[in-house]
Amino acid sequence: MPKKIQTVRGMTDILPRQQVFFERVFQAFRVTARAFGFEQIETPLVEEAGLFARAIGEGSDIVTKQMFAVSRLADSPRQARTKGTDDEKGELVLRPEATASVVRAYIEHGMHTWPQPVKLSYIGPMFRYERPQAGRYRQFWQAGVEIIGEGDASIDALTMLVGWQTLEKLGLGEQLVISVNSVGDKACRPRIRKQLAAHFEKHADALCEDCQERLKTNPLRILDCKQDSCRKIAESAPELIDLLCEDCRAHFRMTLEYLDELGLPYELSQRLVRGLDYYTRTVFEIGALNDEARQSSLLGGGRYDTLIEEYGGRPTPASGFAIGVERVVELIKTKKMPSVQPLTPQVFLIQLSEGARKAALRVARTLTKNDIQVSSGMTKGSLKAQLRSADRSKAPISLIIGQREAFDATAIVREMDDGSQETVAQSAILETIRKRLSQK
Ligand SMILES: [Zn+2]
Ligand SMILES: [Zn+2]
Repeated sequence: MPKKIQTVRGMTDILPRQQVFFERVFQAFRVTARAFGFEQIETPLVEEAGLFARAIGEGSDIVTKQMFAVSRLADSPRQARTKGTDDEKGELVLRPEATASVVRAYIEHGMHTWPQPVKLSYIGPMFRYERPQAGRYRQFWQAGVEIIGEGDASIDALTMLVGWQTLEKLGLGEQLVISVNSVGDKACRPRIRKQLAAHFEKHADALCEDCQERLKTNPLRILDCKQDSCRKIAESAPELIDLLCEDCRAHFRMTLEYLDELGLPYELSQRLVRGLDYYTRTVFEIGALNDEARQSSLLGGGRYDTLIEEYGGRPTPASGFAIGVERVVELIKTKKMPSVQPLTPQVFLIQLSEGARKAALRVARTLTKNDIQVSSGMTKGSLKAQLRSADRSKAPISLIIGQREAFDATAIVREMDDGSQETVAQSAILETIRKRLSQK
């Protein structure tokens, strides 16, 4: 028996029935992003590992444990010959997120010369080597935006608004809330780290293994730990808001004022830090109301004012978010929404001989080229069997080409509702079908 071939662990197929929900999320996102003036960007799935190590943080889970290295099979004899050329240097990985890639593109293509801020949106698969669990895959989809080149608090609110409106369009508005926090900037971050480290050091023994490590690399991240013991210690930690410098506090206050102005529901979330090192000032998530543990965050993002500089660009403030598409799909599946109609063809093609199949293919080409949706089994089934398929397809019109019609270069046009038939020349089919469809 040959070995059974199946998807790799943690990966999944998105079948047509699921695709409908994904498409709905993509569509809501595209329409909203376009309305706000975002232009699309697509970056490669493969990037240098260093890109993410620098952005997300050397010590972060994503960088230390969750990256998929892309093997170039350098050890195989065929590849060995090219070893050492430029493109063989540096480790390659599948992207775990897209912000770092978009920032790389911003610098690489000199987008600082474009009108600022540059507003970009993307949709695509990301990859993280995590323990697979229900609804969580190692390849997952994100839809996100980045606004690069403006630091004003109104942009933070605008970023949240775009995310909010996308979810609202999907009918989720009423059950969601924005969690928002500020994690400080270059000026106050050192003090924040020091104060938090001092607090957590007192309880170091009770911290989980990961947080012991975080204590050294980034004590802020302990605030976000889901372990009970760590959460308890985090509860008594000094509040970030109290540790912010004057500028950061003013920026945060303005951000909240804009949210008030927009009437968006939000809650201050002291423990929200997000697991990526590049965030400065505003961080936010949108998730279900009354979800204390924030297990079902649908969207997350924030400001990253130092990232472009860290990559060698000029100091450029920026802000963005990414939607976890699978999570949104899970949620909208549970909602009563108008069911999506399966694809209904306008014309069903029936053919009854080999010569007729050739004619039918020609007719299909003519019709589809003119945007008429055609379905056909192209089977060797009997007329009766093919008529049954035509009925099931719900196409209003079927075209029947038998041996005789193939020979005469004609076809029988059949109205499926009353069974009336008319023979027309194949050269006149497009015109006939168009006329009949327009009368439906
Ligand atoms: Zn922990
Ligand atoms: Zn500050």
